[in-house]
Amino acid sequence: MRMLLPSALAARLLGAFRQPLLHSLWRGLAPLLYWLRAAFWWPGTGKGQQPVGERAEGSQEEEADGDLPITPTSVNYHFTRQCNYRCGFCFHTAKTSFVLPLEEAKRGLLLLKEAGMEKINFSGGEPFLQDRGEYLGQLVKFCKRELLLPSVSIVSNGSLIREKWFRDYGDYLDILAISCDSFDEEVNVLIGRGQGKKNHVENLQKLRKWCNDYRVAFKINSVINRFNVDEDMNEQIKALNPVRWKVFQCLLIEGENCGDDALREAQRFVISDQEFEEFLERHKGVSCLVPESNQKMKDSYLILDEYMRFLNCRSGRKDPSMSILDVGVEEAIKFSGFDERMFLKRGGKYVWSKADLKLDW
Ligand code: SF4
Repeated sequence: MRMLLPSALAARLLGAFRQPLLHSLWRGLAPLLYWLRAAFWWPGTGKGQQPVGERAEGSQEEEADGDLPITPTSVNYHFTRQCNYRCGFCFHTAKTSFVLPLEEAKRGLLLLKEAGMEKINFSGGEPFLQDRGEYLGQLVKFCKRELLLPSVSIVSNGSLIREKWFRDYGDYLDILAISCDSFDEEVNVLIGRGQGKKNHVENLQKLRKWCNDYRVAFKINSVINRFNVDEDMNEQIKALNPVRWKVFQCLLIEGENCGDDALREAQRFVISDQEFEEFLERHKGVSCLVPESNQKMKDSYLILDEYMRFLNCRSGRKDPSMSILDVGVEEAIKFSGFDERMFLKRGGKYVWSKADLKLDW
């Protein structure tokens, strides 16, 4: 067998299957090719010699350099940095006003789908700000109808969403996550979650109802910080009954909310691990609570910025890769700093399609 299929040819064959257009075919055939290589001992490149199912857990660098590319199963696309709120701890700030032309964004999403993406989450900034939500609506529709992604979700502060958006695009959206850090409006104002006279909590109730009416799974994200760490939210969260309540520990990112070139100074919002644990303990009766400490958050998200560059948070700041639009997903993702094991450990893969959630609308 070694004579019939020399190592150079084997390496070429494996390499060819990793080109973006052949990626899905590669994913299907990879186990067979690896089995053949293991069974007949085709010489490899010196890296990643184990078959797929037996690959030892290694560092991210090994993963990035090895034979198997990282699969972008779940991607967070922050297509805009602009926002109408001014949260003091914001860690994705308005450093640019750039937004890709719609067709370019769709091209990038198609590349991600070809590389194995199953879930896309649109975030910002505030994603409903661009073109009054039309840009976002078009992307959501494209991802569900054209790309047939199992899960399409949005994280928003909720302040700009109108009922018409649900009428036009609700069918294509699986999950809407609304950021809410407090049920005390004064605390929201202190944090910076608010605009003018609009009441963030009242708005949340309205959005909850629309999610029900238009069959979109409703989720709440809360950042636990110095101003809300002592709050008891049990009653309000249970009444709103989200499918998930994601509870984050306030995180410092250099260049975003701390350091010389940052647009925010979030030091005064930071809480200790112990304080975060106490908050979780107080809310342990809420079954949908999903906690995310700084430790769990670190490196377990695939983040794409407004230029479709992966942002690597390993050094405590967001270092961008090349854009997937210029070099493709496989090349760019090597610099993402993504830790797939941590992604799985934090429960990053869950029932994320509304068809599977079996909700009682
Ligand atoms: S709503 Fe989100 S994006 Fe806007 S300022 Fe607050 S944390 Fe930042």
